[in-house]
Amino acid sequence: MRWGDRSLTEYKKHDNGKQAMYGIVQGGVYPDLRRISCEYTRDRNFFATAIGGSLGAHKEQMYEVVGMCSEHIHPDRPVHLLGIGSFIDVFSNVKLGIDTFDCVSPTRIARHGWALVKGAPKERMNLRNATFLKDPLPVDESCDCYSCRHHSRSYIHHLFRVGETLGMQLLSIHNVTTMNRLMREVRQAIKSGTLDQLQKEWVI
Ligand SMILES: [Zn+2]
Repeated sequence: MRWGDRSLTEYKKHDNGKQAMYGIVQGGVYPDLRRISCEYTRDRNFFATAIGGSLGAHKEQMYEVVGMCSEHIHPDRPVHLLGIGSFIDVFSNVKLGIDTFDCVSPTRIARHGWALVKGAPKERMNLRNATFLKDPLPVDESCDCYSCRHHSRSYIHHLFRVGETLGMQLLSIHNVTTMNRLMREVRQAIKSGTLDQLQKEWVI
């Protein structure tokens, strides 16, 4: 909290309207500490709220922590959740009031051959798998990213097999594009009241 105050003071000195400062809620899985941290950010002039710190050991605990924060944070500010990158977690947390996310997972798993794919079992497929050796399809037929428009699963499989880092780059492009597409479709579904329906298309 002292760090937050010092940051706000410095920020105000140099504010040129091009940056925004988020107050980060800490407190682990403890409702009393989360509440103190929520009230701290709520009562100061932050642009938005970010929920950070430990979100617990499993998904249910994460939803619990996000839930205990949403009661006490500033009601009118955007809410960001740190470190969430799977489709199911995006849907679950959007329903709890989260607006934005950031996570290393889409690019980290890309470096290990994993592609995020809408409607795929467990949300992903591994292009290292021998089943893609002669597969001429793009990673995701419904995706219009650079990698899917220009390259096949078999080519990306080949790149990983020979240790060519272009494979990691192509999958990173695809995964980041997919996360942006997910959020675009989530925004549309919120407007049209079809979020549950959209979740069934993305998560099976
Ligand atoms: Zn793609």
